[in-house]
This record gives sequence, structure tokens and C-alpha cells, in this order.
Amino acid sequence: DLTDHSGLQQLLEDMIRDTAGEAEKGEVASYIPELARQEKHMLGISVCLVDGTLLSAGDANHSFTLQSISKIFSLMVALCEHGPDYVFQRVGKEPTGDPFNSIIKLETIKPHKPLNPMINAGAIAVAGMIPGASVEERLDKILQLLRKMSGNPDLRVNEKVYQSEKQTADRNRALAYFLKDSGILQGDVEETLDLYFRHCSIDMTTVEVARLAAVLAADGYDARSREQLFPREVARICKTFMITCGMYNASGEFAIDVGIPAKSGVAGGIMAAVPQRMGIGVFGPALDDKGNSVAGVKVLEKLSDRLDLSVF
Ligand code: GLN
Repeated sequence: DLTDHSGLQQLLEDMIRDTAGEAEKGEVASYIPELARQEKHMLGISVCLVDGTLLSAGDANHSFTLQSISKIFSLMVALCEHGPDYVFQRVGKEPTGDPFNSIIKLETIKPHKPLNPMINAGAIAVAGMIPGASVEERLDKILQLLRKMSGNPDLRVNEKVYQSEKQTADRNRALAYFLKDSGILQGDVEETLDLYFRHCSIDMTTVEVARLAAVLAADGYDARSREQLFPREVARICKTFMITCGMYNASGEFAIDVGIPAKSGVAGGIMAAVPQRMGIGVFGPALDDKGNSVAGVKVLEKLSDRLDLSVF
């Protein structure tokens, strides 16, 4: 019963307490040096009901970078700017079964376009579609959307994480130059990479992530501002990708165990949107071997079970 707010609050607190130990089974991401400094045992959750009611437990006010969660929002901007036909000529709609930073299918699959916008190659291709006179202007399109959806006008890039990623991004650079060679990326590759690193490095708390997810859950309608922030069709496409590709190559398992459209990031965040019901933000920096938050997945599994949230 979602109208019982104190019952729900108690449930969130119990779950955080009972799940925090799961972090032992994972490790913080270390391929981006600045992420390796995160404190492994943090765990926070926020739930934003589609009417705007917000509940949190644990480390819900701790900032972390969106990382791959941001791929949903760059995709939204590209879809709003160009429409689906343009976007899907350059990036596919199929899950890969490979790790998020894999390069192999860029060459072996024809036509040479990334399989979907949730893997790094696909998200870099999407970043290339975001128009603007400068990287700042292009980034601003994503930031404006995130600020509107989260209700926080102060959202910004974490400069340390951005620099750290930029300096260690040889794999992403390889993907991007491959895409340029295949004609998927046009223009200045380094600028598009820069945009990608920056949108991955936007700082947020679970409170804000839950609010973003609540707007997605409500098909683009924001209960707080009473505005339709983007077309229903865009929300539908994003939520479908969250189910099929949102948890990297663990998306099938997650769909069975949790059954909620969700997107994870290597800083340990997960954004989950329960259609017509709620948005959820979780954060726990220790990751499993696929790059998903160990404790975060566990909390979502428990919440889905207790509140019967699976869409299936
Ligand atoms: N910025 C990260 C990268 O490009 C995002 C990956 C992720 O969160 N899985 O490697």
C-alpha cells in the first residue's frame, strides 16, 4: 500500500540495515582512479512516488557521479532533437550480452553501428548526435533536462571525476575512433568524447535520481511542476532500453529477479522507474563483476518482492 508513507519509510530503513553487508561481495570501480576512492560500504535509497512524495533511507544525501545512468538522458536529448528515425539509423535497439565497454561487435556485426545506446559505443554515438556550437552548449542541453526533471538547478559536473576519466579513457577513445572510421561519428571525436566524459561525471544524490525516475515512470509528466517535460514516446523508448540493456549483460537476470526498468552506473548508482507508480534511486559503490552495485541490486530485489513491483 503506497499511501502508507510511514510503513514505506520503515520498510526502506529495514532494507538498508539488512542489506548493507552485501557490499562485502563487491569492489568499487578502479579503472577510473577517482572512483576507486569511494567508500565501499555506503548504501542509500530514495523513492519518489508519481505524486511527488519523497522518502529516503541510508546515505541518500551523498553525491555520486551518474556514469552510465546519464546515457538515458543523452539519449532523451538526441530523441527530442532528431526523432527516433534519425537516432536509430546510427545506433541499434538490441542487447549485446557483452560487457558495457566491449569493442568486438563494432566490427563483426553489419551494418557497423553500435548495437544499443546503453553500451559505451552506443552512448558515444548518441553524444555525437547532440548539437551545439561548443561542448559546453551541448552539455548544457543534458544539464537543463536533468535540472528540470530533478528540480535541482545546481546540478553540475564533478571536475575531479571528469578529469580522472578523461585521462584514463583509452578504451572509450578506441571505440570513438572506430565509430568515426565507420562513419557513425562525424565531426571532432575528442569533443564528442569530452561531452561523453562530462555527462558521465554529473554529480547526483539518490534523491535526485529518484525524481528523474519518477518523471520517466509517469511517461514524462512531472507532478511537481505539473508539466509534461518530454513526449510519452521518448519515455517509452527509454524505459524499454532500461529493461533490455539497462543493467549491461545482467539485464536478463535483473528482469527476472527484479522486473523493473533500471539503469546502473559504475559509480554504484541505479535508477529504476516503476511505470505509473514510482521512481527509485539507489547508491552503493561496491560492484559485482558485471559493473552493477551489489547492494543496490539486492535492495531493489527486496523492494520489488515486498511491494510487488515487477512489470511482468
Ligand atoms: N563513464 C563510464 C565509462 O565510460 C561509464 C560506464 C558505466 O557506468 N558502465 O566507462
